[in-house]
Amino acid sequence: MAHLSLSAPMRVLIATSEAVPFVKTGGLADVAGSLYREYGKMAGIDAVLMLPLYLAVRDRFALTDTGRRFAVTVGAKSYRCGVWSYRPSVYFLECGEFFDRNELYGTAQGDYHDNAARFVFFSRAVLEACMALGVKPGVIHCNDWQTGLIPLYLRTLYRNEFFSDTATVLTIHNLGYQGLFGSGDFSLTGLGSEWFNPEGVEFYGKVNFLKAGIIAADRLTTVSRTYAREILTPEFGYGLDGVLRTRGRDLAGIVNGIDVEEWDPSGDPEIAARYSRSDLKGKEACRKRLIEECSLRLEGRDAPLVSLIGRLSTQKGLDLFIGAADEIVSSGMGVIIFGKGDESLQEKVRGLGAKYKGRVHARVGYDEAFARRIYAGSDLFLMPSQYEPCGLGQMISMRYGTVPVARNTGGLADTIRDYDALRGEGTGFLFDEYRPKALRDCLKRALCVFVDKRRWRKMVVSAMKTDFSWESSAKQYIALYGSAKGTKETRPSP
Ligand code: ADP
Repeated sequence: MAHLSLSAPMRVLIATSEAVPFVKTGGLADVAGSLYREYGKMAGIDAVLMLPLYLAVRDRFALTDTGRRFAVTVGAKSYRCGVWSYRPSVYFLECGEFFDRNELYGTAQGDYHDNAARFVFFSRAVLEACMALGVKPGVIHCNDWQTGLIPLYLRTLYRNEFFSDTATVLTIHNLGYQGLFGSGDFSLTGLGSEWFNPEGVEFYGKVNFLKAGIIAADRLTTVSRTYAREILTPEFGYGLDGVLRTRGRDLAGIVNGIDVEEWDPSGDPEIAARYSRSDLKGKEACRKRLIEECSLRLEGRDAPLVSLIGRLSTQKGLDLFIGAADEIVSSGMGVIIFGKGDESLQEKVRGLGAKYKGRVHARVGYDEAFARRIYAGSDLFLMPSQYEPCGLGQMISMRYGTVPVARNTGGLADTIRDYDALRGEGTGFLFDEYRPKALRDCLKRALCVFVDKRRWRKMVVSAMKTDFSWESSAKQYIALYGSAKGTKETRPSP
């Protein structure tokens, strides 16, 4: 991989539909926000962040109008875009018609009907904003389908002098979300009809925004090494494994980190008591308070408190958990499930809470403060995901001394060291088969260690010691940007 010369700062534009601390629906926001922040600490990198201007951002952050206005074409229509800034290098692209809404992509009833138009607008607006602001990026780091069109635009509608030195990197945070729209929406992209074929953005008769990025970006990444291998197979490839295999040499897995200052039980103001791995007394206080808050009745200290936080979607293994719930509850464990997502799963989760009052606390919603209290106060953290590109919950829980019980897939496999009973070492418990029985057996394994307080403490401390900081992954991205720039000229057009 080429290395960056420190004498020439590289301008990296992170184009993303969400980023902490501004807006978040999931891990993408953590990754984009943390990378931007990490780059700010590094010499030789000039980082710029661009996001849509959502209602929630407008209401909560004091933004400055840059005064830049331009028109963005979406299909046959033209929309006015304003550019707002927060601090010198975070830009929000404004179009009330598309982004003055309560949610980012849709509601529990389904996606917004005009998502194709919204993210054609955003992708083109990013490029127009660069030109209007005179911000020439060395690399545009695109994220997921919402910005998947950008690399293809740079090879077509925006192939011009201004972007002649701009390379592109596309990070796939979750291949399950591809930005698939009816063929009628193809005309919104403004691309020539020669792109609506299987070598282009067509995908079984539909238009696929992520595929645009996959065929056109100089480099592709995904968020763990295991997931980078998995998505090349039909089981995890969601129909794109064939296209991805053609780009296999340009695809790298770089594992996510977490913001270790943001997620730190020794300084977290939201939790009942602060603690660290050298003094775990506060964790006990957090547990006690959480049990009270959730009105749980646990059978003494030998009954572990098991929690699950996340998007309520089949990807997260909710059906597996629901299938195992009766036995989990009858074994005496206390359970907290907290999340928001598909309506049918929300109903099922609420049903579990009603059935097992005092044993299962089920809450539907999104609340970071409550999530923090759960991370701190629980003993075990469940992630029985069907697939998991990286997953942040397991890393956050380990940082808070809450031991993960997770499926051996994607980033879970890369970040959790399965407990080895012979050596008495590990940071979590992994299981392979996607079956309720496998989850139950894994929880039994966890329980055996949990009741042995000395072994358990050692495991908690090992989990808390694991280094999940962004530093090493950020350096890998920067090396990759260098290599993307180095090969940009030599790669044939898609
Ligand atoms: P995803 O597939 O949703 O991106 P990740 O594990 O990568 O899953 O990241 C999920 C992030 O969102 C974590 O930081 C987690 O704490 C947070 N999160 C998920 N659901 C909720 C919720 N209901 N309330 C607060 N935070 C949540």
